[in-house]
Amino acid sequence: MKKQATTTAKEVTVLNVYRFKAPLSRICFVIESSNGEDQYNCCFNGDTSHAACGCDRFVKGHKECYHIEQLRGRAQEYFDSRKPAQAEQVVAPLHSNVAEHTLETAPSGRLVPMR
Ligand SMILES: [Zn+2]
Repeated sequence: MKKQATTTAKEVTVLNVYRFKAPLSRICFVIESSNGEDQYNCCFNGDTSHAACGCDRFVKGHKECYHIEQLRGRAQEYFDSRKPAQAEQVVAPLHSNVAEHTLETAPSGRLVPMR
């Protein structure tokens, strides 16, 4: 974990990644905010052009934020990796506790675990 005091080169710290199983082509990154205190969920739905982030810039400013910009490459890899293998890729999860939370978008734009 490196923390930078400068605001010039913002670096997205990914705390967790949620990969949704078929038929949902979706990936969410739990990221640390730039102040190191808050957490946001940055999700890509279906493809990398459908992204949503929980940060102020996206929620309040309705602008694509640097989280989305920086995570787009990783999301693209995920979407690419699952497209050709869709039929054979339905593998049972090894550990069905952590990554199996079902998330929904709260009105605030943040994702909350559904119980
Ligand atoms: Zn963001």
